Amino acid sequence: MYKEFGIKDEVINLAEKAEKDVAKQFDEVNRRCEINTLKVLKAFNKYNISDMHFGSTSGYGYGDVGRDTIEKVFADVLGAEDALVRSQFISGTHALTVALFAFLRPGDKFVSISGKPYDTLDEVIGIVDNNSSLKAFGVQYEQIDLINDDFDYDKIKERFSVNDIKLVEIQRSRGYSLRKSITMDKIEKVIETIRSVNKDVIIMVDNCYGEFVDDKEPINVGADVMVGSLIKNLGGGIAPNGAYIAGRKDLVELAAERLTAPGLGKEVGPTLGINKYILQGLFFAPSVVASSLKTAIFSSKILEDMGFKPVPRFDERRADIVQTIEFGDKDKLIKYCQGIQMGSPVDSNSIPEPWDMPGYTDQVIMAAGAFTQGSSIELSCDAPIRPPYMAFQQGGLTYEYGKIGVMKAISQII
Ligand SMILES: *Cc1c(COP(=O)(O)O)cnc(C)c1O
Repeated sequence: MYKEFGIKDEVINLAEKAEKDVAKQFDEVNRRCEINTLKVLKAFNKYNISDMHFGSTSGYGYGDVGRDTIEKVFADVLGAEDALVRSQFISGTHALTVALFAFLRPGDKFVSISGKPYDTLDEVIGIVDNNSSLKAFGVQYEQIDLINDDFDYDKIKERFSVNDIKLVEIQRSRGYSLRKSITMDKIEKVIETIRSVNKDVIIMVDNCYGEFVDDKEPINVGADVMVGSLIKNLGGGIAPNGAYIAGRKDLVELAAERLTAPGLGKEVGPTLGINKYILQGLFFAPSVVASSLKTAIFSSKILEDMGFKPVPRFDERRADIVQTIEFGDKDKLIKYCQGIQMGSPVDSNSIPEPWDMPGYTDQVIMAAGAFTQGSSIELSCDAPIRPPYMAFQQGGLTYEYGKIGVMKAISQII
């Protein structure tokens, strides 16, 4: 059957070996999956989730008991006081934007301490000019770069000793940058460093791609607020869209008043039939994140055995579900991405090609045969076409199709 699916003999042997070599890492992933499943089940039990929470509202969405309970469940799972979980958030970028505009006022300063934030925030912050950016509203931005993939603790301590900063942003995942993702241990250490000199600054974590990778979340280690997307980890591949903001109650309220309107806040927001999918997605999320992690670990091992350079390595502690592979060769990179698409459950007949995507300097190729458009908790692989020809791969709703997809992709380059 492998052969009928276009997987070469050589790849079958490589896969068998790689899978044996990562048994210990898979055990660790399974253990974390169980811990996170417990967290979810405990919250479902605590709030007595039942059929009535799967109901729906339209129009203004007043009195949506499902929506209100979903937000309590998310808050409980993430260790937060409150949460805003809404399909009215178009994306992770939108939720991050709402949070930043809710917390920051003209004259305020904010600092990113994990280097330049995710690309889509450039125009939000005003790093790239935009009439509606924070900068255009008089909010100042500063940046402290990472050194050797870790925080610049000395510089951070010095900067936050002066109490003139309103908010600090930490981005857990690497996004499309070449740095490594930041582990929860480091996030915990840097929050302690900031709090040793400054009790007031709002600590906000961009948690995209990070949920359920570890057994702790940013709020558990002292962050005030965290933000993520529902077409990534916490949606479990089932939530049709949306994003969340979770953390301190006063901050969640500010975010709600920015998303809807001052005076309306969390009281409105029709759910239009998605409550069940949000809950079911959260229920599946620990397992889906575990499948994504196993797909990443398997890819890392097999591609390393073939002589390519994966980051993280198969036995490294992970902070997110992203796996990069340095191919060092344009043709192999393109063929690998095309192979990921060919092995997908949806749109397997479409062959992606590099193209001039708006907002990017180099051509980009994007492979994603996903049930939900743009969902990157489903197996997907993107790459800017420039040296060192690096692919950014993530997702895998089930480990089995993740593994098969990767085997199919490798068969294209062998
Ligand atoms: C995905 C992601 C975002 C948000 O991206 P959207 O595509 O707008 O949901 C922000 N930050 C990081 C680190 C991400 O990975």
